[in-house]
Parts: sequence; structure tokens; C-alpha cells
Amino acid sequence: MKKGLLILGMALAFAGAVVWLWPRPRPRPLDPAFQRLTPLEMATLPLAVRFDMPLGSEHGAFTYNARAFRISRHLGDDLNGIGGENSDLGDPVYAAGAGRVVYAGIPHQTWGKMVIIAHRLPEGDELGPVVQTMYAHLESIHVRTGQGVQRGEPIGTVGTADGAYLAHLHFEVRLGPYVNPGQGYADTALNRVAPEQFIRAHRGAEAEILNPAPRKE
Ligand SMILES: [Zn+2]
Repeated sequence: MKKGLLILGMALAFAGAVVWLWPRPRPRPLDPAFQRLTPLEMATLPLAVRFDMPLGSEHGAFTYNARAFRISRHLGDDLNGIGGENSDLGDPVYAAGAGRVVYAGIPHQTWGKMVIIAHRLPEGDELGPVVQTMYAHLESIHVRTGQGVQRGEPIGTVGTADGAYLAHLHFEVRLGPYVNPGQGYADTALNRVAPEQFIRAHRGAEAEILNPAPRKE
């Protein structure tokens, strides 16, 4: 009887050790090679007929650009409330255009919370068919990956990347179907274009022209 208990105990200890030592899957860094939108995903992206500024107002009022695209190797614009410092902390960040969220999370501490939205541009747009807008250092995220968003819809709030910076919105516009949080600075522009200029060029439709109805997903 005692021997039976001893064997049972040893078997349980062995099983416990196996479970404890069994290799656990670790979160791996996002590999952009596997993060390409499929042709179907691209074809079903919401059509973005117009883009607006993601902060302050659709016209960018109450907003200034603290570090513009390509200044000091910067890959985006750093948008701030005109109050400066942390006055814009917690202000709503809006989707610049109709699209679908393809990333929502914290890719790295220096980024803090980040949202990436993919948009389909109207046929004939020389930058199309797919562009992505990226919003970083957020204090909070109000959307999830896979969700469709409308232009002007709140997607999160302005943050500090957990105290790393004074509150501001790092905003990028990227061309093509590869989804990758990436880095904020580089020697070349990579697949980024100047956000302020992009928005200005894509506010072409009159403000009162509405987006097409979102399709059921
Ligand atoms: Zn920045």
C-alpha cells in the first residue's frame, strides 16, 4: 500500500516536472513577411473617399506639427494640441479615413499603444490601391483589430507612451499592403509619405459628401 502511494507520488512529481519544463510558446516579434494583407482583404477594405486630420478637428484646427515628416529622420508627423506640453493628453484621436483596423496593440515600449488602419483608395489614385494610417503613443485604444471604422470615428486618445514623452500623436501614412509597426525614424522614407500633405491632397471630396455605407463583414 505504502509502496503504491510512493509510486503514485513519484509519477505525479514526474508529470508535474514534464508540464513545468515543456517548452511554452513565446510571443515572437511581428514578422512583416507574414503580415501582408491578402488580395481578398485588400479588395474588401472600406473605400476611403476622403481623409481628414486625426486630431483637433477635421481641418486640423487646434493642432500643430511639432516634428514634421523627415525632420531628423522622422517617419511621421508629431501632432500636438495648440496648448502645448501635456494639454492634449487624453484628447480623442480620430480615424483619418474610412478603413479597417489591421493592428491595435503595444508593439514596443517606445511606441506605447498603436493603431494601424488600412484604407482602399478610389481607383486612379496614384498612391493606391492601399494606404495605411498609423497612430502611436496613445493613452487608450478604443478599437480592435479587424474592426471597420469610419472617417472621424474616435479610435483612441492622445498619450505619452507611458510617460516616455510629452503627450502627442505620432501620425504616419504608409503605402502598400505590408502591416508592420516598424520604427519612427530611418535614413530613408521607406514606404511613408508626408502625412500633412497626404491629408491635404485627399480632402478632395467636399466635406458634405458622405462615405459609402459600410458593408456587413
Ligand atoms: Zn514622432
